[in-house]
Amino acid sequence: MTINNHPEIKPLNTIGILGGMSSEATSEYYKLINQKVKEAQGGYNIAEMVICSVNFANIERFVRAGSWDDAGAYLAEKAKYLEKAGASSIFLATNTMHKVRDDIKAVISIPFIDIFEVVCQEIKKQNKTKVGILGTYPVMTDSFFNQAYHEYGVELVSPNEADKKEIDRIIFEELTQNIFLDSSKVFYAKVMQDLVSKGAEGVILGCTEIKLLINQNDVIDIPLFDTTDLHCEMASKMCMAE
Ligand code: GLU
Repeated sequence: MTINNHPEIKPLNTIGILGGMSSEATSEYYKLINQKVKEAQGGYNIAEMVICSVNFANIERFVRAGSWDDAGAYLAEKAKYLEKAGASSIFLATNTMHKVRDDIKAVISIPFIDIFEVVCQEIKKQNKTKVGILGTYPVMTDSFFNQAYHEYGVELVSPNEADKKEIDRIIFEELTQNIFLDSSKVFYAKVMQDLVSKGAEGVILGCTEIKLLINQNDVIDIPLFDTTDLHCEMASKMCMAE
């Protein structure tokens, strides 16, 4: 008898989180996934998960230098730890590092739950196709991300060059460092309005820390697609799946 067949033990699937990118985002994943399982199942129920949290200094260096091969090798190694630790699926808790998703997928035999797929399902559900994107500089500029969304029939609208640089600066210098300034929130809201005036039908919070700065209550007339929330919703469902 495995421990999950024990009559006193409620069987849940063990979710694997590959995080640390940054610790702020990973804490949010941990909190949200547990909250969603608790809401669904009540009582003292929370999720079962294993977290492999990497050193964000390495990630910051890889992103700034565009060292995607090194990033892929580093994260692939860590993804293997999750599988060995009993994870039944892997959620990479960052948009930017999805750029190396193929390196990760190549070394694991459990499902990798793609953040773009989950977000695009929601965009389609709301009958939208053209949406703005806020995220790190690579997320807003690298053709990989445009292509990843395009594969699901979603067209991205990006901020202008100066705004992209400022959005990226705020992510690295403030949000990942647990700094949340009103001036940055006002700036993000202004950029969202600009994206709408360029034809966006909503805006993707395409960085897993952005929701900590600004959320739907701050911009009630712009539909937001929060990658963290949607990814965590899927993680909680997979945790509870039969
Ligand atoms: N958490 C961020 C994201 O969702 C940025 C940090 C990183 O470069 O991984 O893209």
